[in-house]
Amino acid sequence: MAARGTPYLDDLNPAQRDAVEALDGPVLMLAGAGTGKTKALTSRIVHLLNTGRARPNEILSVTFTNKAAREMKSRVGRLLGQQIEGMPWLGTFHSICVKLLRRHAELVGLKSNFTILDTDDQLRLLKQLVRAAGIDDKRWPARQLAGVIDQWKNRAWTPDAVPVAEAGAYNDRGVEFYAQYQARLKELNAVDFGDLLLHMVTIFQTHDDVLEQYRRWFRYILVDEYQDTNVAQYMWLRLLAGGHRNICCVGDDDQSIYGWRGAEVGNILRFEKDFPGAKVVRLEQNYRSTPHILAAASGVIRGNQGRLGKELWTDAQDGHKVRLIGHWDGEEEARWIGEEIEAMQGGTRGMRPFGLDEIAILVRASHQMRAFEDRFLTIGLPYRVIGGPRFYERMEIRDAMAYFRVVVSPADDLAFERIVNTPKRGLGDKAIQTIQRCARDNGLTLVEGARLAVEDKLLSGKGAAQLAFLLENLTRWGRMTGDADVDHTELAGMILDESGYTEMWQNDKTPEAPGRLENLKELVNHLEEFENLQGFLEHVSLVMDNESDESGQKVSIMTLHAAKGLEFPAVFLPGWEDGLFPSQRSMDESGLKGVEEERRLAYVGITRAEECCTISFVSNRRVFGQWQSQMPGRFVDELPEEHVEVLTPPGLYGGGFGAAGMGAVGSDLHDRAAEANVYNSPGWRRLQARRDQRPISQPSETRNTVIDLQAVSAHTVGERVFHQKFGYGRIEAIEGDKLEIAFEKAGVKKVVAKYVMAADD
Ligand code: ATP
Ligand code: MG
Repeated sequence: MAARGTPYLDDLNPAQRDAVEALDGPVLMLAGAGTGKTKALTSRIVHLLNTGRARPNEILSVTFTNKAAREMKSRVGRLLGQQIEGMPWLGTFHSICVKLLRRHAELVGLKSNFTILDTDDQLRLLKQLVRAAGIDDKRWPARQLAGVIDQWKNRAWTPDAVPVAEAGAYNDRGVEFYAQYQARLKELNAVDFGDLLLHMVTIFQTHDDVLEQYRRWFRYILVDEYQDTNVAQYMWLRLLAGGHRNICCVGDDDQSIYGWRGAEVGNILRFEKDFPGAKVVRLEQNYRSTPHILAAASGVIRGNQGRLGKELWTDAQDGHKVRLIGHWDGEEEARWIGEEIEAMQGGTRGMRPFGLDEIAILVRASHQMRAFEDRFLTIGLPYRVIGGPRFYERMEIRDAMAYFRVVVSPADDLAFERIVNTPKRGLGDKAIQTIQRCARDNGLTLVEGARLAVEDKLLSGKGAAQLAFLLENLTRWGRMTGDADVDHTELAGMILDESGYTEMWQNDKTPEAPGRLENLKELVNHLEEFENLQGFLEHVSLVMDNESDESGQKVSIMTLHAAKGLEFPAVFLPGWEDGLFPSQRSMDESGLKGVEEERRLAYVGITRAEECCTISFVSNRRVFGQWQSQMPGRFVDELPEEHVEVLTPPGLYGGGFGAAGMGAVGSDLHDRAAEANVYNSPGWRRLQARRDQRPISQPSETRNTVIDLQAVSAHTVGERVFHQKFGYGRIEAIEGDKLEIAFEKAGVKKVVAKYVMAADD
């Protein structure tokens, strides 16, 4: 078939074009961030379709996330200038393998309607096996076994293929349990995530006819983010491409950030060996970032050993230096970033105006998101969290809040329903129905109904005893909320511990559990800023109520891992402190491997930015409920000075960097950042003076709006005020408890007086 026009080729540089037009045979595109690898890969798909080499269903294209797959599909459609009738085999390894395995399940002893176990189920199953074998699973946690099995599956080892060198795993019994586990899965007609690939590799290895069928079927294979494939994924690709060898992989060894999940950068090096004669294309021109940003990223990644090493260049204008700023603590960091984003919308510090959609905040750990979400909700700055729920919508946060709600208001039936059997207290549906009936028939709240059900012995067994214990606890905690001697932050921790909720997550061996525990700690930490539990709950209901609508521009918040492959004109990278980024775990590891992976993550972070990149660190963070002095992370030191501008923070809260022991840090950059901080800046003195005049006891209006708001009773026309959502404004009219306010940013609005507080002129 004759090719139609090829305007999509005109947008490519010669090296990209080379890689796109070399349709047959193996191609490896190895290039740094922002050099147009994904663009070339997309153009290649378009070229295959446009030249009639392949139909959409003959192209197997692997992306790292479903989101990336969707984006690639729509880009292909756009470049092709027509809607394609879908590309069924464009997706993640897992999504593609599920489809394949359903067709051939019987070849590995499964039925095509097999279920996919989540990590919870997987662990429960392993626990059963371990216990049945009489093993003390406290000493030999099933979680450890699950980790070992996952890693073996990542390496495509079936139980009989596990090498002898691994025989010592899990007290010498790892292989034995692995075999039992696989047999049990088969009985249950189930697979875990790792099996999706492992089974397909097994099928391809043992059934030539099936393999041949797919080799014919998938005439062209393309893989993005190749540096993060594990061995099983690699073998699967190699088997499929083994016939025609039409495989094109693109990747960047400097962006390999999933080593902890079994990804092997070595796959890149092996490619040329496994596919001799492969065309290797290197791209060096970066189209994404300005020179300062690129130089800063290159400066940091240079610290890693054993890189393949590449130089990147750009012909973009110099642009702005990477901005570095130190803050007093995490709340101030969030406050400053919020204000900076507001200013950036109108253009600030010599930069063009940025829309909210153009701005992203990339964090190392998801618990960092809380401070930003809180702040943004408070000032009404629209945001979206990518790759996960918002902080207050997370399951563990909702559960914890439900506990607090029941303690503060025992009549909160919804909250009680949520926690009565979380953690599991042996109360099944029937027991819950009994409680509900008891409440309904007697016109009681659920808590009262539950008490009655216990007293009247309507429930039996373990569930009844545990419920009685919970009710006793609720009464006791409720009494403590009224006790001035009990600190509400401690009480909150106590509630989560004594209810068994914390323990539930401690015993949970899913990969998400540690993150959930961190989020719970962050929640308890945050409570300190409020006078009591009630004040906190009110704050949350207010900020959640202020949620902006779905449409419209929003700032994106996500983890660095989730940001892979994406790009934004302006990027904020907060929390560059030792222990947070690089993470404590990576620093505790012996050898360089852990910190090197963190450094690649730093490289990924900086290279997401097109025009403006702002890195920050704080000198104090609350860690495990304790204030801790923080040191700027080592990657801050590694930023090449000539590409960095140190910004002066406003220093609203005073205090300076003393606590972080800045003097001890050798780097000039640190010292300058420290100096630039609160102590010496005129801005700080001015704000300090202003703060001294302010009648409120909190360090700033942002710290604890709810409590301040409640202290306000009367207002006058013409008064300058602050509203949590709309910011500053002046009262134009008063009608009962409603105020008409001309807000400086939001325009004229009518709001309820209790949400408004007096502000300085
Ligand atoms: P990463 O390693 O971060 O995944 P990448 O190598 O996949 O980056 P792309 O996302 O494909 O890079 O491209 C980066 C940016 O550069 C995109 O905005 C893309 O449109 C643009 N770009 C790529 N190639 C060219 C080109 N030849 N001319 C102009 N712009 C280009
Ligand atoms: Mg890419």
